Amino acid sequence: MSKPKYFIDSHAHLMTPYRVKGGIKWIRKAVKEYEQLDLETPAGELLQHMKTAGADYIINYFYPLQSGESREINRWQREFADRHPEVIPFASLHPGDEDKEEIIRDSLENLKLTGFKFHPYVQRFKILDPGMLPVYAVLQEIGCPVNMHTGFSKFYGMESLEEEFLALLARFPRLKVIASHMLFGDMHCSKWDRILEQYPNLFLDATNTLSFCRPGTKLTGQIQEIISKYSGRMVFGSDYPMGMAYPVKILYDLLEQVCPDHESFEDLAWRTAAGLVKLNLH
Ligand SMILES: [Zn+2]
Repeated sequence: MSKPKYFIDSHAHLMTPYRVKGGIKWIRKAVKEYEQLDLETPAGELLQHMKTAGADYIINYFYPLQSGESREINRWQREFADRHPEVIPFASLHPGDEDKEEIIRDSLENLKLTGFKFHPYVQRFKILDPGMLPVYAVLQEIGCPVNMHTGFSKFYGMESLEEEFLALLARFPRLKVIASHMLFGDMHCSKWDRILEQYPNLFLDATNTLSFCRPGTKLTGQIQEIISKYSGRMVFGSDYPMGMAYPVKILYDLLEQVCPDHESFEDLAWRTAAGLVKLNLH
């Protein structure tokens, strides 16, 4: 297939040196090739790796591990994106933060961040934690995109998020939610068909998922079926610098191998993501 018009890496984690170091150390346990990436690599340099590999824009996620860190992290996201206009920064908050609605307002109105990212495993909370319900309610009303980690429960040594995530959809059906990793490993891929029909504001983030659906694997046909039907609601990224392969170009190249046709390739490469974050590309 010919190259896509643009490429948006819809899932990256460019963060402070401390958090980048922690992230690379963590992924090295699963992906040995990350030994080649210096733990001290600054975020700007990681961004350069992604641009060299072909990314025109990247959607960046950086979430707090503890309460009280959110404002500083969200400010860091703003400053980083100001220095690097190809970065589309998402805010986050911690379920333990006291002033969650104020953090949302500050992130969206003052810092002009694009959406919110949550990671129930790493941030250690239940998706339907009572303290999070007003957060989803506000984000639903604003129409703000929310990327929620789902999937890979065994990798994290945690319970599947299938039930909780489906309960979130049922409770906030208008929330513009992006299911990161598509509940991979925890729910059969074919179930997405019915769920996507039921919830028109739901999007899927195929980051990491595609690494397990390479042509020749038993999941190729299943993922291609979902992509053929719903590419307009699917995005793709690398999880760099903690993705399923190193260097990052290996992950970018996967998309062309897995997409069944050129239109779906364009959708996952940039078109769906551009629509989601209101980036004016044609
Ligand atoms: Zn991630």
